Amino acid sequence: MRDSTRIIRSTLTPASPGEPLHSGPVFAAPYHTPGDPSDAPYSYARSHNPTWTELERAIAQMESGPGYEASALVFASGMAATTAVFGAVLRPGDAVVMPSNAYFAARVLVQEYFTKMGIELRTAPTEGNAQAELLEGAKLLWIETPSNPTMEVCDIAVLCEAAHRAGALVAVDNTTATPLGQSPLALGADFSVASDAKSMTGHSDLLLGHVATRDPELLAKIDQWRTLTGGILGPMEAWLALRSIATLPLRLERSCENAQRIAEFLTTRKEVESVLYPGLPSHPGHAIAAKQMRYFGAVLSFILHDRAAAEKFLATSKLLTEATSFGGITTTAERRARWGGDAIPEGFIRLSAGCEAIEDLIDDITQALDALQ
Ligand SMILES: *Cc1c(COP(=O)(O)O)cnc(C)c1O
Repeated sequence: MRDSTRIIRSTLTPASPGEPLHSGPVFAAPYHTPGDPSDAPYSYARSHNPTWTELERAIAQMESGPGYEASALVFASGMAATTAVFGAVLRPGDAVVMPSNAYFAARVLVQEYFTKMGIELRTAPTEGNAQAELLEGAKLLWIETPSNPTMEVCDIAVLCEAAHRAGALVAVDNTTATPLGQSPLALGADFSVASDAKSMTGHSDLLLGHVATRDPELLAKIDQWRTLTGGILGPMEAWLALRSIATLPLRLERSCENAQRIAEFLTTRKEVESVLYPGLPSHPGHAIAAKQMRYFGAVLSFILHDRAAAEKFLATSKLLTEATSFGGITTTAERRARWGGDAIPEGFIRLSAGCEAIEDLIDDITQALDALQ
C-alpha cells in the first residue's frame, strides 16, 4: 500500500456492525484492574491510555520501513519528547554532540540543565556534517536536518555510521520533515524525535510530540521516563491528532509544492538577498536532501535588506499570517531575529507554506515585495 492509503486506513476501527468508523477519546485516570494488575493492558492513565495507543500505532507505522518495525511513544510536546531522550540516555560523565544551530529550546535545555549535572556538550554546525568531527567517546549524537530556521542539511546515513563506529547513539529531530518526508530510522538513527505540533498535525491548534525507535530496550527506557516524569498528552489532544494525521499526505504534498514555488519565485526578485530552501538546486545541501528526503519541506527562509524591509514586507502582506511555529495549513511568516538567540541577519524571514492556492500566495508576495521599492 502507498503511504496515503496506509495512513488513512491506520485510524479505522475493525469493521464491527454498528460501531463507529473511528473510536472516540478515552477519558480515564484509573482503569478496572481486579486481581493481578499485570493482566490488565491499562491500569493508570499516567502510564498508558487507549487513545495514545491508537495514535502511537499510526505514528509507528509511518516511522517503520522495509524490513523493520518501529514503535512510538507520544508526549505532551516536542520538548517533552526531546527531554525524554536526553534524560533516558545521558548520565554524568557522558558527552552529547549537538548542532550549534539546533532548535533553540533544546540547546538551552542542555546548556542550562544537563551540563550542570555533569554532561559534556559539544557543538558544531549542521552544514558539512561538521558534527562527525566531535564523536570520539560521545554517548549521543543529536542531529536536526533541515535545521530550523537556517535550513542547513546534513547526511543522516553518513553521520549515523560515524556515530555508531564511535559507540554513540543517534537521535534525529525530524520535526521539519515529518516521518513521511524523511525516515531517520531507515537511515540508521536510534531515535526519531519530533514536535508533532508542526506539519504532522498541521492545524495550529495542538501541542504534542513523539519519540520513535526500533530498539525495545531504548523504548522501555523512554516509556519509563514518561511514566516517572508525567509529561503526558491528554486523550482529547491524542484524538484530535489522530483526525489530523489522516490528511498529512495531502497537506504535505500541497504545502511542499507551494514552498518550492515560493522559493523559486523569491530567487527572481531583486529585493530578496538570498533564499534558503533545500529544494532549490542552488542550495548547498540540495544533493543530500534529494537523496534522503521524499519532500523538501514546507519551510523556507529568505533574507530581505534589513529589519525595516522585513517588517514592511510582513505588514503589507495580506496572506502571510505573522506568527511563529510552522507546518500549518495556513501560510505563516515571521522576522526571526525578533526573538534573538539565532545567529541570523535582521532582515531574515522564515516562511511556512500552507495549503492555499499558490496563485494567491504569489500575488500577495509580489505586492508586498513591490511595496519595498
Ligand atoms: C517546535 C520544535 C520543537 C519543540 O516542540 P514543541 O512541541 O514546541 O515543544 C523541537 N524541535 C523543532 C525543530 C521544532 O521546530
